Amino acid sequence: MIRDLHEKLVNQEITSEQLTSDYFDAIEKKEPKIEAFLSLNKEFALDKARAVDRKIQNGEEIGLLAGIPSAIKDNMCINGLPVTAGSKVLENYIAPYDATVIKKLKKEDAVFLGKTNLDEFAMGSSTENSAYQTTKNAHDTSRVPGGSSGGSAAAVAADMCAYALGSDTGGSIRQPASFCGTVGLKPTYGLVSRYGLIAMASSFDQIGPITRTVEDAAIVFSRIAGKDRHDSTSVPLVDKNYEDFLSGNVKNLKIGVPKEYFEGNGLDAGVRKIVENSIEKYEKLGAKIIDVSLPSGEYALATYYIIQPCEVSSNMARYDGIRFGQSIEKGNSEDNFVLKDIYFKSRAKYLGKEVKRRIMLGTYALSAGYYDQYYKKAQKVRALIKNKFEEAFQKVDVILGPTAPTPAFKIGEKTENPLEMYLADIYTAPANIAGIPAISIPAGNAKIEGKELPVGLQLMGKWFDEETLLNCAHAFEIS
Ligand code: GLN
Repeated sequence: MIRDLHEKLVNQEITSEQLTSDYFDAIEKKEPKIEAFLSLNKEFALDKARAVDRKIQNGEEIGLLAGIPSAIKDNMCINGLPVTAGSKVLENYIAPYDATVIKKLKKEDAVFLGKTNLDEFAMGSSTENSAYQTTKNAHDTSRVPGGSSGGSAAAVAADMCAYALGSDTGGSIRQPASFCGTVGLKPTYGLVSRYGLIAMASSFDQIGPITRTVEDAAIVFSRIAGKDRHDSTSVPLVDKNYEDFLSGNVKNLKIGVPKEYFEGNGLDAGVRKIVENSIEKYEKLGAKIIDVSLPSGEYALATYYIIQPCEVSSNMARYDGIRFGQSIEKGNSEDNFVLKDIYFKSRAKYLGKEVKRRIMLGTYALSAGYYDQYYKKAQKVRALIKNKFEEAFQKVDVILGPTAPTPAFKIGEKTENPLEMYLADIYTAPANIAGIPAISIPAGNAKIEGKELPVGLQLMGKWFDEETLLNCAHAFEIS
């Protein structure tokens, strides 16, 4: 898809300006129903598109992403443009610099159409925690697009951009990709710089592409990855274009299936069927299916929902109305607050319910009397989960399973029950806990209440082995 657009640009069948304004037309038509975007940058995007067109007219060589319109999750900074992270606390905040991924995409002459909706600070699985709007699923607008990168996934699914960037802390790229019928890649932790990504839980957060095809994911991933001196957790990557390694051959590839992921009754029957069919498909393609044992997702969830809020509580401390974020003081200058009041009242007013819930959970788990019992213990379990993946990857190259236990759920269905919402991450959180790469690809549709809803298949790879992972996903997609 990106390659096709690129060919058309290079052959001068279309201009980037035309392509960009076509996308804005599509946005104008579809956005009132979908509400995927929090802000649009029409002039900024068209200026860039025209600059790319001039390069093409001058016979300059352009890269695959040049002039191709994209959408960026609104927790990544683009210099001079608003960045809200879906929170009122950052309303009217203008990014003072480019995130590294943006800097890299700018170097590729990418066009940015706008910023997409998300759960506040990426905490959630449906975009219902956004302080601004709930994005709708293009396949059924009474349903959620997933989250937290729901805006990005919905924008790709509704063809309001060619590709998008999301961020994934516990599943926020893959679960919306599954719900919206798109591809979503969470790279190995450390391969994509987090500099300029508004931090949620720093030991889990990772930026990645949401696209229509696996090849597109490979193209975008290759261009945003790499060591960055602004992010000490980033690692040097062999400099290669992953799209050049998609042979589609999975003969004798060893694919592990964790039996624990199919036990219990949380897995929807339609999703189960689609995953089982996918296993058969891989067998027909010549892959070897091997049983592996991994701790059930419940342990991963319990671990995630201790460590993650701890990191949240620390990362959210900066929104105190003084250093960062809207301040109650500014709105009420006649009130003579003491400093403490500014902190308390600003945070009380501008942070949402889910963010507060996690700050409280995290502060509790980190407090002197409970640190050992919760945080430290969860860290130990994290190490054990990682070890189990290491063991499994001694035997297999890729691990296969569902991305989410169900297809897209209804808007409002889980908002009153945070625990149910957290269960949406049961299959995705393990990859973040271990830091391994994982991808969700469309695998079929499940029929629910007379509607065909997309279902994603999740493939998890070895640390830094995006090459095998992407090729395995590509093989499925093209057969
Ligand atoms: N749904 C998960 C959460 O609420 C994951 C979010 C994410 O990956 N950003 O924490």
